[in-house]
Amino acid sequence: MSLYEYLQQSPSYFNSKFLIFLSIWFFGLGACVGSFLNVVIWRMPRGKSVISPPSHCPRCQHKLAWYENIPVLSWCFLRGKCKGCQLPISVKYPLGELLTAFLYLLIWGKVILNDEPLFFAFNYLSVTFFLIAVFFIDKDHRIIPNKLTYTMMIFGLIFSAFFPQVTYIKGVETAWQGLLYSFVGLVAGGLFFGILAIIGELIFKKEALGWGDVKYLAAVGATLGFPGIFFTVFFGSIFGSIYGGLLILSKKGTLKTFIPFGVFLVLGTLLWILAGNYIFSEYIALMESIKIKSI
Ligand SMILES: [Zn+2]
Repeated sequence: MSLYEYLQQSPSYFNSKFLIFLSIWFFGLGACVGSFLNVVIWRMPRGKSVISPPSHCPRCQHKLAWYENIPVLSWCFLRGKCKGCQLPISVKYPLGELLTAFLYLLIWGKVILNDEPLFFAFNYLSVTFFLIAVFFIDKDHRIIPNKLTYTMMIFGLIFSAFFPQVTYIKGVETAWQGLLYSFVGLVAGGLFFGILAIIGELIFKKEALGWGDVKYLAAVGATLGFPGIFFTVFFGSIFGSIYGGLLILSKKGTLKTFIPFGVFLVLGTLLWILAGNYIFSEYIALMESIKIKSI
């Protein structure tokens, strides 16, 4: 069986031993991806290359050997200090690796529960890489780098051509249809929220919805199909409002306090990946029960 055919299979096709092996593998993969994300989150908003130079200590320039670069474990056996100059290494690095690892495991668990084809896991996990980067960069720097959103869009277009079903549209089967519907998702997100951003700016005389957010939503449309965009905006707004409300209640902010919306959009997208189809079907069942009662 080719890798492509393998990726078309859903978890029920494999025996439980292989699924356990895959779970450990995804956890490890998440830790490694988290390690790379630490580099991306630190360097990208500072305009530095994420590839070179290789990881080194910012004080003594000590280059990390391979065994000092193992996610989580290296930090533990180095006891959180640089081997060269004893400069403390922040605990947020191993925590970022663990967070990504657990998130990868959680998403893989969801794929098993829903018995979705393996390529869905591949799509979700790739998208999650961008989500985590957007979350932390927007939180700390209030920007969503174009490099992230554009790469996510290109990934979505190419991946949808190979696996058209990820567009969530029934009957989309050929590569051209996949590419087309991914493109439709991209344009739908970009155009709809782009217009909304312009209207918001005209009404409020300030940036209500940033262009980084608009590009992010277009990228969500390209990778997760356009149902994902509206889910993201709906729940992102709810999460953002709750956070804003809590800030005001705790007197740490006012209605004018800036809230990085991208952070909450990411939470909305994550909820879509983890429980979107469940919430969607519950919602439809609820609507139908209301309809039946009213008849
Ligand atoms: Zn050092």
